[in-house]
Amino acid sequence: MLRSLHMKLVLIMVLLVVCLMTIAGAFLTSSINQFYLNEFYSQMSGVFQDTELVRDLSVQTEGEEDGGLAMEQVLRAYMGALGVDGRNRNYFVLSGTDLRYLAGSDDEEGADLEVTPNLLIALNEKREGSESDPTAGYMDLAIPIHRGGQDYIIYILDSQNNLRQLNSEIFLLIIEALGFGLVISLLLSFLLSRTMVTPIRALTRGAKRVAEGDFGHEIQVESHDEIGVLTGTFNDMAGQLKTTLEEVENERTKLSTLFLHMTDGVVAFDRDGEVIHANPAAEDMLGRSIPIGGPIRYFDLFGEITALEKVLNLEGDCLESEMVRGDRSLLLLLAPFDREKQAGVLVVVHDVTQQVKNETTRREFVANVSHELRTPLTNIRSYAETMAETPDLPPEMTKNFLGIILGESDRMTHIVQDLLTLSRFDSGYSQLTLTLFPFGEVLRDSCQAVRLDAEHHGHSLELIGDRNLPNIRADRERVLQVIMNILSNAIKYTPDGGHIRMTAGWREDMVWVEVADDGIGIPADDRERIFERFYRVDKARSRESGGTGLGLSIAQEIVARHEGSLSLVDRDGPGTTVRMELKIGGPEA
Ligand code: ADP
Repeated sequence: MLRSLHMKLVLIMVLLVVCLMTIAGAFLTSSINQFYLNEFYSQMSGVFQDTELVRDLSVQTEGEEDGGLAMEQVLRAYMGALGVDGRNRNYFVLSGTDLRYLAGSDDEEGADLEVTPNLLIALNEKREGSESDPTAGYMDLAIPIHRGGQDYIIYILDSQNNLRQLNSEIFLLIIEALGFGLVISLLLSFLLSRTMVTPIRALTRGAKRVAEGDFGHEIQVESHDEIGVLTGTFNDMAGQLKTTLEEVENERTKLSTLFLHMTDGVVAFDRDGEVIHANPAAEDMLGRSIPIGGPIRYFDLFGEITALEKVLNLEGDCLESEMVRGDRSLLLLLAPFDREKQAGVLVVVHDVTQQVKNETTRREFVANVSHELRTPLTNIRSYAETMAETPDLPPEMTKNFLGIILGESDRMTHIVQDLLTLSRFDSGYSQLTLTLFPFGEVLRDSCQAVRLDAEHHGHSLELIGDRNLPNIRADRERVLQVIMNILSNAIKYTPDGGHIRMTAGWREDMVWVEVADDGIGIPADDRERIFERFYRVDKARSRESGGTGLGLSIAQEIVARHEGSLSLVDRDGPGTTVRMELKIGGPEA
């Protein structure tokens, strides 16, 4: 309560009034005292300068018996001039030798007079005792007179009762004024506090609202004084704060949206290793949920890579590391943030599984190409060497060897051509020549093309559903190449006397064709990989039949270009079924 501004104001006002009144009272009483004193002595000196009075007092009259009484008679005539009233101020005639009372205006008081310093001066030094003492509580004047050979002292004594009465009246007046002053000061302080405290309270309420995050409320500026300026400044500050907070919030939302949707994982830790942020990508890549401030800490996630302290004290930009989680290869970038304060560590997790896979595929591909080319080359070289070293080789053998050499070089040409086709697809140089043609016709043409070969192996070859197929928009030659490849695989990988059936149809905007055989089939483990380059289930059999292991890869590239699909159909029983789907309207891109 005492701490409130209102109470302080009341206290200050009361103290002010009391101080003012006390000072005014003190000054007033002391000046009145002084005035009274001065007035007394100037009145006395005025009277006693009267030469007639001095003469009447000092010259003895004839036949005078009692000088004291005679002098009292003289003084009585001057009572008015001396201000003697017989109660508060009196005159006395005393003996100049022993201060004995002889006569005066108040016999009672005269008999009981106190020996004052002024009386002693007059008695001892025979001069006028008129020394004033404001603290004495009386005023007196002692004048020595020599009359008729006798020494007398005329003594005027004022008891200051008038003054005391005046003082007590002034005191009462001051107390009354103090009372009024206090009432006025209380009213004033209420008024002041209303004008000062009300806007301050409004300001406090506003500050509380701002602290609670409510920036919408503007405090009314009611005055132009310092508090008004403060209120205005506070409103400006709240506005500024609102804008800044909105900007920060925007920035935060932007960042969290970015973190939420970015493909790279981000995990932030504080300096103690506690998680302060983790985005869904990071949780997905690391294969666990990472709650903020949860039990999972830096050590559990990346402790095996490097210690937290090491990252916190890192000299360079960031630390790069790799880790494998399940079947994923992850690249980690660890960096401290707010280095000077060592506030924490940020870990960016980049999924490089595909890159690693690509790199492995590339290496395997190069190894495969080298291997595939080296085999026919070695064959060609060894047969050529044998021929060169054996001049008398029988002509049938020479013919046989030359046949092998030609066959191997054809194989190499095949491989190189297939590789070229693939590389054209990879580099995007190979363009499709799109035309509109009947899908059924391509199927019949491809059947026709392989029929001799199929018959050669004793396979039956039938085509079902080719009659009501629509025209499609595609690269006719490439589509033919794909179907031929599937058909020739069916012929190749089906023991003689097998059955090959080509079924076609269409639905909505797609045409489809399935080539089913009852051949050796493809084991479950290999089914996924047969579209990979150089992948062959049975290498020897493939090579024997002139395969390169690139046919299905090329076929899939062609179908993908057409935005169609090429897949193996899961079907019970022996053999293999390959299905191709193509868009009737052709590729959009
Ligand atoms: P290739 O030139 O070796 O035939 P492909 O890319 O055409 O190469 O085929 C890849 C592999 O898939 C073949 O080596 C073969 O093992 C397997 N394959 C393809 N079609 C069939 C089929 N109809 N029956 C059994 N295996 C097949």
